[in-house]
Amino acid sequence: MNVQPDLEFIRQLKTAGGDTLKKCFQCATCSVACPLSTDKKPFPRKEMIWASWGLKDKLVTDPDVFLCHQCGDCTEKCPRGAKPGETLGAIRAYAYQQFAWPQGLAKLTTSAKNLPVLIGLPAVVILIMWLFSALIGVSGLHIPNHEQFAEHGYQHFFGSWNFYWYGKNIAFIALIMGVSALIAIISSWMGVTRMWKAMAADAKINATYRPSVFQFISRFLWPSIWETLQHKRFKECKTNSDRVSGHLPLVLAFIGLFLATCWSLIKNDILGLIWPSLHGPLWFWDPIKLIANVAAIAMLYGIWVLWQNRRKMEAEGRASNTFYDWFLIWEVAAVGITGLLAELLRWGGMPGLGYVVYYVHLISVMMLFLYMPYTKFAHIVYRTLAMCFERYRNSSFVQ
Ligand code: SF4
Ligand code: SF4
Repeated sequence: MNVQPDLEFIRQLKTAGGDTLKKCFQCATCSVACPLSTDKKPFPRKEMIWASWGLKDKLVTDPDVFLCHQCGDCTEKCPRGAKPGETLGAIRAYAYQQFAWPQGLAKLTTSAKNLPVLIGLPAVVILIMWLFSALIGVSGLHIPNHEQFAEHGYQHFFGSWNFYWYGKNIAFIALIMGVSALIAIISSWMGVTRMWKAMAADAKINATYRPSVFQFISRFLWPSIWETLQHKRFKECKTNSDRVSGHLPLVLAFIGLFLATCWSLIKNDILGLIWPSLHGPLWFWDPIKLIANVAAIAMLYGIWVLWQNRRKMEAEGRASNTFYDWFLIWEVAAVGITGLLAELLRWGGMPGLGYVVYYVHLISVMMLFLYMPYTKFAHIVYRTLAMCFERYRNSSFVQ
């Protein structure tokens, strides 16, 4: 076989956590140690040799790369200190960039040097919208007094208007976050579509017949999501088992916050049209508000566990200090801390500081949405798809 190594790919892997991959001497201890590797399709030994040869096309279409949970069991056992778990993480980071759209935005998220732009972009967008809100409606640039703050909380951050059917604040936030989420959804859709086609072509799959949407959801997608929610594969890891106690609360927190956001939108934008008294912030003892607060605490707890875990792994030499791994931790921590702090300042009746913290909170939420398909957060969609593909290629749909 005539191997044409892609040196630029190898260089990128090295900067994203695969700096030790050349130490590998192919003993296969890692494949034996990996609790998720199977006898039929063992990994990560084969990925280590492909990576050192620079075979990027084979690696980004290899489902095993995405099935890895970066538990570190293989890295712990590797006699050469080649850190195969970290190398697979670096390959995933590269794959997200390859499948992403728009490429310019994806490239920005690869380096800490771009942090001023990554933070500045949403900061400027929200500031412009805040200034723009002054031109529309009853009030725009306005820091409330204590009474107004106690009554409305942050629901007049973008001012208010006399349009009964839709709150001005909700309209502005929906516009900012909606566009960010739409970019993330389109990018994720394009990415997973490209990835599926590439995986099917690489595996030379001869599909007997195509599953319908219902069959795809019921036989491949839902079982994969259910397995993820149960954290089955996570629990098989041995050396890094405490990671699940951080990841699980984080997943449940995102679900809780998603439900609370949906309820807030329904209450304000649909039910509020019929019963105007439903407009406004949720009461402290409202069950949904309680869920949101518990979810926020779970988010902070989960990210604290993962933060500690990451630091410990790096201190013990089982993980590399990479921007790819830390950026998501910082982002989630920023969302949780600023969200909770904004609420505390509301209870404490401090509108000026509360508005500043709320502004930072909006920036961090927008960053989470906008950069989701390019950062480690993308594993939500790409790993789920790889799990679907694993089920699909072993199903009766494929000969
Ligand atoms: S990464 Fe380590 S354990 Fe795996 S094959 Fe290479 S040297 Fe062996
Ligand atoms: S990090 Fe864990 S899941 Fe990933 S290859 Fe190594 S042992 Fe397997």
